[in-house]
Amino acid sequence: MQTRTVLLGSVLVGMIAGAVCALVLSAMFSPRLLVGYLFSVLVYGAAGGLGALVFSAVLVRVMDARRALWWASGLSPAAFVFLALVYWGNKWVLLGIPFWSFWSLVFDFGALVVSLLLGFVVAWGVTRGLSAGRTAERAPRLGRRVFGVALATVGAPAALLAGMTGGTGGGAGDPGGKSSVVLISIDALRADHLGCYGYERRTSPTIDRLAREGVKFEKAFCPEPSTGPSHATMLTGVVPQTHRLRRNGESLSDSLMTLAEILRDGGYVTAGFTTNTLLDDRFGFTQGFDTYIESGHVEKLRPVSLTLLIQTLAVKEFFDKFMWKIRGGDNQTLLCVGKWLRGRPKTPFFLFLHLLDPHWPYEPLEPYRSAFPPETSKTEGSLWVDQGRDPKTLARNLSLYDGEILTVDDGLTRFLSLLEQVSPAERTLIVFTADHGENLGDHEPYFRHQDVYDGSVQVPLILHCPGTLEAGRTVDAVVENSAIVPTILSLIGDDIPEWIEGESLVPLARGIDGTPDRRAFVYSGKRFGLRTSDWKVIIDFKNGERLLYDLAADPAERNDLFEAEEAVAAAMEERLLAEIDRLEGGLPGADEGRSPFEGLDRQTMERLKALGYVQ
Ligand SMILES: [Zn+2]
Repeated sequence: MQTRTVLLGSVLVGMIAGAVCALVLSAMFSPRLLVGYLFSVLVYGAAGGLGALVFSAVLVRVMDARRALWWASGLSPAAFVFLALVYWGNKWVLLGIPFWSFWSLVFDFGALVVSLLLGFVVAWGVTRGLSAGRTAERAPRLGRRVFGVALATVGAPAALLAGMTGGTGGGAGDPGGKSSVVLISIDALRADHLGCYGYERRTSPTIDRLAREGVKFEKAFCPEPSTGPSHATMLTGVVPQTHRLRRNGESLSDSLMTLAEILRDGGYVTAGFTTNTLLDDRFGFTQGFDTYIESGHVEKLRPVSLTLLIQTLAVKEFFDKFMWKIRGGDNQTLLCVGKWLRGRPKTPFFLFLHLLDPHWPYEPLEPYRSAFPPETSKTEGSLWVDQGRDPKTLARNLSLYDGEILTVDDGLTRFLSLLEQVSPAERTLIVFTADHGENLGDHEPYFRHQDVYDGSVQVPLILHCPGTLEAGRTVDAVVENSAIVPTILSLIGDDIPEWIEGESLVPLARGIDGTPDRRAFVYSGKRFGLRTSDWKVIIDFKNGERLLYDLAADPAERNDLFEAEEAVAAAMEERLLAEIDRLEGGLPGADEGRSPFEGLDRQTMERLKALGYVQ
């Protein structure tokens, strides 16, 4: 056997092994794009070929050609299986992500066994082909053999994958029982950047479909534009002054009864999936959930597996930080929730899904990154430009932010189609919302969510409940997200516990509104606001500032009318002060203590830093 045959043979085997490894890893991480699969197959294939070339070049010098080919052919698949195992162990054992679905276990182990077997078969087949042929004339036969093995190698995992994804049809419903409940909350998602709320860019076709088929609330508000306090209200039905989670980093008290606890007590299977570290068990958000996965601590994986390969090869610490910059963590969350759904959970279930992509930093991947070319015309009249800042920077950030929304929307497309297979739409209540908005060019601090302007405190809110609620209705009344728990309980036919402070939105969703002059009470630090349908009054207890905006005429809240509209200002101020007195038990005093984040581990601090929560 010639040295050249050894080199070529092992390069071929190395490439096949690389391609298989790429397919297996890609299947594990379900990249968003076909190009992600193809790219990883190419990169891994090339790496496998190169590695095998080096191996065999060394081996032919220390042993006879046939043995060298044996070793080089076996080593490459073994190396890739090893890489997959290392990463697997890393993900599963070290990071503690359970994979509890029977079918996902069958698939994962099946893929592993197939990889191992094929590694052996490839080496055996190639060597046998060569030893049968020994002469140059037999080379074409060897080529056919390798090609056959290559097909089998690529085909087997593909067939297995196809079998797994399409195979588990059948009965999810429990006729006569209660509807399943799905609460989707997106971090930092501004309502006015969604098509269904009038945005001109096509950022949200799937969310728009939910709105078309459901009931949309035009003026929904969170109590405080922070992940922790807002979610605490969304999940308990009581305002921050009652649940006491006033700032990010504080914990949701065990003494509170969460929606998950209420539903679990009522026989629901409960599961939560989030990409945001601030919603994990350290902050009390896992209460009532049978399954809860926080993927924020899993590297924000790119679909391109080259990074995965490099990461696997050791420098994990460095890449953990780097990954935050290049994003993709929602992919992991969607993967986990997908696995859970494929496991055919018993119904009825309560599923809470929280995705993070629109949160700063805005770094969508392609093709979302260039989905919306920057337009400086969109920055005209913004506070950002008025303050003399570069409109191009704002235009670019707006484009990237919109790209993040499209990323989430695409993820939801896949999620909802899987959900529909598991729980039919007419037996599923979907509530779609956000924890808060985001200041873009309209108010400071830019690209963060603080203060009580609408950009930060207004949220989208959609109820999707075909057959129960009329499709396509729009509700104009001002509502708060403390209404989410009572609304869900009401729609599934449960009694609303008396301690719930929010009010069910079902009458409003059916076109009945018995409450005139509704208001939302909002705060951020020492700034408090009261928002009615057309007006907002703001009082800043740090500097005594008082502001009044006419939202109908001035939706950007730029033109303070506190002096000009004396009568409205006085009435609104009195109303706000009364609410502060009632809710806060008096006017706010100094409560700035130590940071609630003190004492957290270094890794968590790094993640919070990457999101801009700590300096
Ligand atoms: Zn948030």
